[in-house]
This record gives sequence, structure tokens and C-alpha cells, in this order.
Amino acid sequence: MNIQRLFESKKVVYSLEVFPPKKTTSIDTIYNTLYGLRGLRPDFISVTYGAGGSEAQKNKTCEIASLIRSEYQIEPVSHLTCVGSTKQDIMEFLDRLKAEGVQNILALRGDITPGNDVIDFEHASDLAAFIKNYDDSFNISGACYPEGHCDSANMDQDIENLKKKVDAGVTHLVSQLFFDNNHFYEFMDKVEKVGIHVPIEAGIMPVINKAQIERTVSMCGASFPVKFSKLLNKYAQDPIALKDAGIAFATEQIIDLINNDVRGIHLYTMNNVETATRITNSISNILASCNRQV
Ligand code: FAD
Repeated sequence: MNIQRLFESKKVVYSLEVFPPKKTTSIDTIYNTLYGLRGLRPDFISVTYGAGGSEAQKNKTCEIASLIRSEYQIEPVSHLTCVGSTKQDIMEFLDRLKAEGVQNILALRGDITPGNDVIDFEHASDLAAFIKNYDDSFNISGACYPEGHCDSANMDQDIENLKKKVDAGVTHLVSQLFFDNNHFYEFMDKVEKVGIHVPIEAGIMPVINKAQIERTVSMCGASFPVKFSKLLNKYAQDPIALKDAGIAFATEQIIDLINNDVRGIHLYTMNNVETATRITNSISNILASCNRQV
């Protein structure tokens, strides 16, 4: 099913994200994760794709997306990055997705790193246009950045580029994680002004341990509001309390976003079933109530 239809039939779409097990871990570990997440009845589950990863690693994305559909009867979205790939590589991956019945793709550039440079595609918008031209039956989603992408000189430029992505065929956007909802609301006002009207899901990552905090900051540059920094400082030495506080913070963020009419919540689960379950259980009546009002 094309996930665009979800946004036509629901006020608030709720989706989860998983990543394939690392090279050294058996693919089997994802079965338990998916089994646990299935009970949360998400509208779709997206599977990340390792930019510049090995072929085997990339194949896992397709394999897991296929499994989500066939085994768990949930709509899958396969991420796909284009940096470091040729047109031929992309066509082969698209053919594999098609053969597995995976219809939805989150089209990404990926991070440019030494050894993983631009070959045939410079931006995600180039990938979106290529997919649309190759096989129009795929539904294409894209990424967006409430605090701007680090390669952009400023927010306005980033949003102008986002418009190019939408014009190239992206029908739905998922945001980078953020901890201050005001960034998301300001971003939504700006994208509306440049004529971007596709549904935008807010990406939320519950921060539940210290290592994750450090990784998160270095990777995506999301800013920490004072309220969040206080939480981190207060519980940094107490893992159990930090986990509870991190889950509560993410849950509060989500409820505030839903109260402010966000079109979707995309939970970065980090393959952690317990955390995803606690958050989903806390918001399930809220989601159900909103979706009864359609
Ligand atoms: P782009 O949209 O190409 O944007 C990158 C930069 O180029 C921005 O500064 C933008 O303003 C500019 N730009 C965009 N289009 C144009 C244009 N037409 N002309 C000029 N400038 C332009 N990474 C992975 O490796 N695997 C994943 O599975 C993955 N999943 C992600 C999921 C989400 C929801 C998000 C938010 C990010 C994800 N990432 C993933 C990270 C992503 O690959 C990086 O953030 C990457 O640096 C940018 O990817 P993009 O698709 O946003 O790039």
C-alpha cells in the first residue's frame, strides 16, 4: 500500500523506525524486535539503509522490509541512500524492492564521507527524480531538518532545497530528531510559506542512556533545550532514572505535537522494544481519539 493513503485516512499517522542488525550480529535478532513492535500496531515501519555499507548490509534492509510486510502484515518503508552509488546500483536495489512488494522508499542522499563521495547523484532530490522516472509506482518520502541541515548556509536555503525535493516527487517528509518542539513549529510555518504542503512527520528519539546522548549530539547536531539539559545533568549517573525521565520527556514532546496538529509521529526506536512499548502505550488513547475525529 502506498503510505500516502494513510495520510488521507488518518489525522495522525504513527510510525516506527528500525535498523538492520550490525555486521557482527545475526539477522535473527531483528525478528524479536519486529515481533515486539508488531503489537504496537504502527501504521508503518521504516528500515534504515547503510550509506556506503557492504552489499550484504544493504540487502538486509530489503530483506527486513520484505519481512515486515509478509510476516507481520505492516506496511514497510525502505530507506535508500544515493551517495557513493551508481545509477545501476540504484536500479538493482529498486528491482529487488519491487520483487519483494516493497512500495515505499525514503529517498536520502546519505552522509558524504571520505571514500563515500558523490558518483551519479548529488542530492536526495536527484534520487527522487530518478526513482519517479524509473518506476512511478514507488511512493517516495524524504528527510527534513527542523534545525536545518549542517551542509546548508542557513535555514531559508535548506527550505528552498527541500522544496526542490518535493517538486522532484517526494510526497511525504520525516523530520530529523529534535528536542525542542518550538523548532518544529517554526519550521512548519516556514515550509508552509514556501508552498510545501506534503504531510510532515515529526521524528522523535527517546534518549535513554548516556552513550546515546553523546552519539546523538555528534551525529545530528540537535540542540538541547534547558529543560532537557537539566534532565540529563540530574540523572546522568543514574541509568534507571535517566531512562524513565527520557521516556517521559519523549512522551510529553509527542503529546504536545499531537495537540498542535502534527500529521504524524515517527519514533526512532533504536530497536528497543521496551522503550517503544512504554511510549506507545502512553499515547495510544490519544492517537485513537484523534483518529476517531476524522
Ligand atoms: P539532501 O536532501 O540531498 O540534503 C543535503 C544537503 O544538500 C542539505 O544541505 C540540502 O539543503 C542540500 N540540497 C538538497 N537538495 C538540493 C538541491 N537540489 N540543490 C542544492 N542543494 C540541495 N542516513 C543513512 O545513511 N541511512 C539512513 O537510513 C538514513 N535515514 C534517515 C532518516 C531520516 C528521517 C533523516 C532525517 C536522516 C536519515 N539519514 C540516513 C541521514 C541522512 O542521510 C543525512 O542527514 C544526509 O547528510 C542528508 O541526507 P538528505 O537526504 O537529507 O540529503
